[in-house]
Amino acid sequence: MAAKTIDELISLCKRRGFIFQSNEIYGGLQGLYDYGPLGVELKQNIKNSWWRELVYERDDIEGLDASILTKQTVLNYSGHEDTFTDPLVDCKNCNARWREDHLEKKICPGCGSKELTEPRPFNLMFKTNIGPIDDGSSFAYLRPETAQQIFVNFKNVVDSTSRSLPFGIAQIGKAFRNEITLKSFIFRVREFEQMELEFFVTPGEDEEWHTFWVNERLDWWERQGVSRESLELYQVPQDELAHYSKATVDIMYKFPHGTEELEGIANRTDFDLGSHSKNQDELNICSKIKHNNDSNAKLAIKEPHMKDWIVPFVIEPSAGVDRAVLAILNEAFHEEKIEDSKRLVLRLKPHLSPIKAAIIPLKKNNPEMVEMAKKIKNQLQSKGLGRVLLENTGNIGKSYRKHDEVGTPICITVDFESLENGSVTVRDRDSMNQERISKEDIEKYFLNYF
Ligand code: ATP
Repeated sequence: MAAKTIDELISLCKRRGFIFQSNEIYGGLQGLYDYGPLGVELKQNIKNSWWRELVYERDDIEGLDASILTKQTVLNYSGHEDTFTDPLVDCKNCNARWREDHLEKKICPGCGSKELTEPRPFNLMFKTNIGPIDDGSSFAYLRPETAQQIFVNFKNVVDSTSRSLPFGIAQIGKAFRNEITLKSFIFRVREFEQMELEFFVTPGEDEEWHTFWVNERLDWWERQGVSRESLELYQVPQDELAHYSKATVDIMYKFPHGTEELEGIANRTDFDLGSHSKNQDELNICSKIKHNNDSNAKLAIKEPHMKDWIVPFVIEPSAGVDRAVLAILNEAFHEEKIEDSKRLVLRLKPHLSPIKAAIIPLKKNNPEMVEMAKKIKNQLQSKGLGRVLLENTGNIGKSYRKHDEVGTPICITVDFESLENGSVTVRDRDSMNQERISKEDIEKYFLNYF
């Protein structure tokens, strides 16, 4: 099941503290959102799952956390200054601005007028000034993708880890795009996070690796609770490919507002490493790139068995964290009829749940019960699986409802019998089954969920 409309998700996110409009008390700032107490946990858990599977569980990927502010030359040689644009049109009637390629007909979606200007390229990169003097040459960009900082650190990573091909560099971090039109809550925003892997391979092996990563990524999404039926693959046509790409496959998800890109997996060839290398004429670069670079690095690799230096090709699975949050929330969203009422339950995979278990004293003013609940909380918290919450509202029905809605896999209730023999009641979110378990079994029962 999924939400019927995006508004159902927006309402849940606001009510339960997942996501808020940014700068809300001053009227908000368009295209920006803040992650609240539960949103920050969900987002962190998604990122951890990606990082764990790629960097920790594989042996061929290193991590990186590079700067957001990016030197102009990097984004010049990467091609972003020239090509990272969307076609902008103005409505001559109401002055609204639109992205031309997103208009179904050449009609202003605001007022219906057909009087639109000719499209002109609008660069999506945000500029800022570095240092105290703003003389027009001291500007830097907020990175529009995390990838470029991986490419410019290629030599640092190779030299410090002695990696040989194939290997990857992974990074999670913020990216900024001055999008012309915003869309559907956190789907298209101006400040977002990306989880990007640049996987460097020997030229000629790139197509095989491309297929490999498309399949790996599909499997990962399924492990996050996004069913295969909600996903589609889209082979981006040649005339729509980004300037660096030889082939791109998008993983599309059936969002409540329509089927759209969740992750892009591109074969970026040797374009980026080639573009950022010095003495390009001496390297055997396949891509068409600008020459006369002023970098001081040769972003190439020569292993003992190789005769010449080679510039690796790169396969890039690039996923948006915010779109992941939206897709995962949507997939988990279930509304069930129970007798004559409704139950809203988020069937999140336990490793993604913002709260791993809620420990609930039956009576909030009973110090012995509260004390025992605190002890259980501390015991389970020490397992390091994420947040365990002491839920001391004194209203058990309300607490169950809340934890169903935020996807907490189990609730553990401490009652009068607990004070006598240490046993507790555990309630499973999905089945709503309740059972009594002994003090000794609490930890094992909890760990079984993860
Ligand atoms: P779109 O066509 O939807 O604008 P894109 O092809 O420009 O996306 P990429 O440059 O491939 O996107 O970026 C990789 C991923 O980063 C996307 O699959 C998406 O998940 C995420 N992403 C890109 N732009 C945004 C944005 N404005 N807001 C939220 N996430 C974004």
